[in-house]
Formats: sequence, C-alpha cells, structure tokens
Amino acid sequence: MKIPFNRPFTTGKELDYIEDAIKRGHLSGNGEYTKRCQDWLIKNTGSRMALLTHSGTAALEMAAILADIQPGDEVIMPSYTFTSTANAFVLRGGVPVFVDIRRDTLNLDETKIEAAITRRTKAIVPVHYAGVACEMDAIMAIAEKHHLLVIEDAAHGILSRYKGRALGGIGHMSALSFHETKDILSGEGGALLLNDQSYAERAEIIWEKGTDRSRFFRGEVKKYSWVDIGSSYLPSEITAAFLWAQMEEAGSILDRRLAIWNAYHAAFVGHEKNGSIRRPIVPDECVHNGHIYYLLLPDHMHQTEFIRHFREKGINPVIHYLPLDDSIAGIKYGRKHGELGITHEISVRLVRMPLWPGMEDMLDYVLDEADKILKEVEA
Ligand SMILES: *Cc1c(COP(=O)(O)O)cnc(C)c1O
Repeated sequence: MKIPFNRPFTTGKELDYIEDAIKRGHLSGNGEYTKRCQDWLIKNTGSRMALLTHSGTAALEMAAILADIQPGDEVIMPSYTFTSTANAFVLRGGVPVFVDIRRDTLNLDETKIEAAITRRTKAIVPVHYAGVACEMDAIMAIAEKHHLLVIEDAAHGILSRYKGRALGGIGHMSALSFHETKDILSGEGGALLLNDQSYAERAEIIWEKGTDRSRFFRGEVKKYSWVDIGSSYLPSEITAAFLWAQMEEAGSILDRRLAIWNAYHAAFVGHEKNGSIRRPIVPDECVHNGHIYYLLLPDHMHQTEFIRHFREKGINPVIHYLPLDDSIAGIKYGRKHGELGITHEISVRLVRMPLWPGMEDMLDYVLDEADKILKEVEA
C-alpha cells in the first residue's frame, strides 16, 4: 500500500463548471465564477470584501502593498511559518521580525509581541497554524494600542472559528490559500479578505494591474487607466470554476477531514499518556477545520525514526516548517526578537500525518503502524 501525505480531493463537479465557464465565453478573471466564489467568502467569513487571487502568496503581496510597507518598516510574525508570510513584506523592503510561538497551539505568542514593537513596526501577521486560531483578542488589542495593522495569514484557516468568528474575518485584512494541500483547493489559488472598507478601492486597483478597471466595469468611470502600482493578481475563470465546485461542497469536505482528524486524536490518547507523543491542543474558544494532524515526538532522533519507519511501510508523514529566522534569506532580510526556543524545538519534533478525504479505508493501517512504532518508543 502507498499512502501519500496529501492527495488533492475533487468533488466531481469541477469539470462541469469549467465547461460552463468555457461556454460563457469569459475565461480571464473577474467573471461569473469569480463573483460566486467571492460572495461565498464574504458570506462565510463576514469580511467586507473578498478578491480571489492566483495564490495565497499573491494575497499576502497585495496585503503588503495595501499596508503601505516602506523600506525598513518592520512586520512582526512567527518564524515557524511558510516563506510567503515573510517574502511578501520583504519584496516591499519590509523587515520581518520573528517572535517565538506558544507551546500549546504553535501560534505566534501574543505575550511576546509588545516587546518586539519599535518605531518602525507597521503590522503584525498572525499565522493560524493547522487552522487553530491565534489569540486574536489580545493581538487586536495590542495592534490598536500601538496603531498597527493586523494581517491574518489564514492560509490554513478556512471556515475555522475563534470565539464564533471566522478566521480571516478578524484582522484588518487576511490571506487565504487554495493550494492543493489546503482544505478547499483549486491547484493554485488564494484570496485577499478585507475587513476594513477603507482599503476596498485601492485593493481593486492593485488587483487589476494598477488600473481602475473594476470601476470602469461598474460604469463609474468612462475609461480605465493606470492610477497606482499593481500587478496581475486575478485567477482565471477556469481556476474560479474549479474552486466553486469545492466551495459548494466545503461543508462535507471539512466533515470528512475532521472525521479523520478525530480518529487520529482518539487513537493517540494512550500514547500521549505513555509519554511518547504530544497531541495537538485546541483551546476551547477555537473551532478548527481539520487542516493538519500533527504529533510531537520526544526529540529530533524520534522524529527521524518515526518518518523512516512509516516510509518503509509505504506511508508518507512529513515534517513541517524549517524556522525562517536562521534560513539563508531570513538572516539576510529579517531579524529575530528574543530567543525562539520553542520554534526551533518544535520544528525538529513535529510530524504531520497523512490527512485527505478518500484515505478513510487506509486509516486503520496507518494507526496500526503508528501503534507499533510508538510502543517501541515507550518500551
Ligand atoms: C500555503 C501557505 C501560504 C501560501 O499559499 P500559496 O497559495 O501556496 O501561495 C502562505 N502561508 C501559509 C502559512 C501557508 O501554509
């Protein structure tokens, strides 16, 4: 048996909608399917505005432009994240300032943010790791006190909640990803969400290559022209049609992911008691979306052994982020604030288990193998 870490799930409707998009004769961006997806996002996140992008990375880049990041401006973020979280700001001359994560959720430690703020700080970028929310009340309060923007990296967080509110709908703006490894996917894809209406007009311009084409389409201006910086951030209608098929089934996709997540969680209770692993911790105020099921092994040696054992059995669990702060580009473009002890410890202990709708039949086999290796660790 071969069990990959991820296998992109499709609902069966994707090709029908792509065919329909072709029949409609509009294949560039911002057509019928883009509108449907954007309306769905607004309805499901409570955001004021949603713009589909060709990636989560593109949405972060748009956010960095909208935040008006200037050379030397600082942006506080975790080091335990994907490169795009930092890159988007570095592309504008910004400086990522890396702060350590919490031991329970592996999210940005909100108690360490304030000490990292300087005169140059412009924004805080919380990353909702594994779709479990950061402490957004505390983060929003710090931002308000110091007049900073909060840009949520909600790439993992679609349809997750914090105190009843959808992730991506809490900060000033946020980025979602529909990369094939995420819960809802279109191969490559993403969205920028705006929760503050004052950014709406400029966001549309940045999205449409620096032009006021969106206003032209609404009949608000007679011609469209170059009015600001921008780029081509729209996905085509082919991508949006694919994504729409996924959004229609989002509820059942999440249910299936959560069923697998819950099966892992229940199966590992005993091993956690025996001390061979730590399971994910989801605070009471968070409802998550089953994005990642991870285990924390005792140390790096056990992380390596665990993965090696599974690969021999045809199962492919994977590690996750290599901390950005001591990466080649992280050293060059960013700096760390304080010691990032938890970040570096977690990075060498964490293993993500295969999790995708369609692997239900294989779960017993995965759990049996996990049982075997963890019993050895416990012996
Ligand atoms: C996936 C991801 C991104 C980037 O999304 P893409 O759609 O792949 O560009 C950004 N941040 C985090 C935390 C991610 O997991």
